[in-house]
Amino acid sequence: MGTRAGIVVTGTEVLTGRVADRNGPWLAERLRLLGVDLGHVVVVGDRPEDLQAALVFLAGTGVDLIITSGGLGPTADDLTAEVVAAFQGRPTALDPELEGRIGEIAERLTARRGWRADPAATAAGVRKQAHVPVGATVLEPVGTAPGLVVPPAEGRSGPTVVVLPGPPGELQGMWPAAVAAAATQAAVAGRTELRQETVRLWGTLEAQLAATMREHEAELADLEITTCLRDGELEIVTRFAPEAQTAYDRFGAVLADVYGSTLFSTGPTLDELVARGFADRELTVATAESCTGGLLAARLTERPGSSAWVLGGITAYANSAKELLLDVPGEVLERHGAVSSEVAAALADGARARFGADIGVGITGVAGPGGGTPEKPVGTVHVCVSGPDGREARHLRLPGDRATVRERSVTMAMHLLRAVLVGGPPA
Ligand code: ATP
Ligand code: MG
Repeated sequence: MGTRAGIVVTGTEVLTGRVADRNGPWLAERLRLLGVDLGHVVVVGDRPEDLQAALVFLAGTGVDLIITSGGLGPTADDLTAEVVAAFQGRPTALDPELEGRIGEIAERLTARRGWRADPAATAAGVRKQAHVPVGATVLEPVGTAPGLVVPPAEGRSGPTVVVLPGPPGELQGMWPAAVAAAATQAAVAGRTELRQETVRLWGTLEAQLAATMREHEAELADLEITTCLRDGELEIVTRFAPEAQTAYDRFGAVLADVYGSTLFSTGPTLDELVARGFADRELTVATAESCTGGLLAARLTERPGSSAWVLGGITAYANSAKELLLDVPGEVLERHGAVSSEVAAALADGARARFGADIGVGITGVAGPGGGTPEKPVGTVHVCVSGPDGREARHLRLPGDRATVRERSVTMAMHLLRAVLVGGPPA
């Protein structure tokens, strides 16, 4: 397998879960695009011996490149540069020109933020950050901290270490320079192209797919296939070398053939398909949500540019709100109850009419944990999409807790929107 890499994410806040790691996943995707195979992401706290142990571990797996994130700040607990220098057998030395540049940045920052910094303390912090391993390539600061590319000292073997800052914006901003550095290029010289294809199924069980894959086992030898069940969707991601393209094309054809009734995408995510559908067909949408409390409207408007198709939404929790704001007839509420296909349809029609939208979506259900009855247990949800060509409606019995029921209801509504907008398998 060509060039291999490992990642060390540092920071006690990430280790303890107070901050969710955004650097490991981001770097993983960049490495894939570079054609570098990633073996491990190791998360360590701000302890030098733990960072050291992680570097030793990754080097032991035979990687060509290690990338670290975090621990480059001016404070005493920021130790990455020192630990990496020692690991590579390189002394550190003050880079006076770098000290000047970091000093200017620190000065500008304190002035802009109106801080009154102790000049001696600032100078000590700047000086610390300007101590770099001898022979390392310095990556100019995007925020305040410089990054580093540190190859092993002369006469030693082992991976080159790319040292990047912790704040995700700074790390991402520094990445192009890190890749362009001659020392990085030398470390990844043996990389090969790795292709990746994604197929998404809605409504196929993982066990079914596993059976299909067993049947075709022999033909799949050169493909690295991972399947992930998320939010009711089965995502099949396949990675392969260019030589295995024909093998992948055959596998793709098998999937299309066996799962024609659930395969809804050979790439784009559900949300991308829905957004594209609205944009291409120049249609507008309005929502009327009860149990999901606006989550569908939030999901639809998450995307930049969604103002071109989302007109608005109403969270109608109480029956009075359903009547008053969406013209759901009181008699329908009375006769069928708020959680019913009739009310979901009336909500969708109401949203469509009130907002003057091409498509209206209505969602009503019992998210739980209370409020269930034998006829309408927790997890009973009705979703209706009402459009110019008629209606798509579903009656769901969703398992799971309140958050899961609400999320899955929204996903169901997104699938119905997709089916209405771009066709494909009925959800
Ligand atoms: P600084 O100069 O800000 O101290 P640093 O390189 O020392 O930079 P850290 O101290 O490790 O980086 O992290 C700074 C901040 O960046 C953290 O408080 C955290 O909010 C954010 N951060 C660090 N690592 C990650 C990560 N892996 N994922 C998401 N956010 C992170
Ligand atoms: Mg720090």
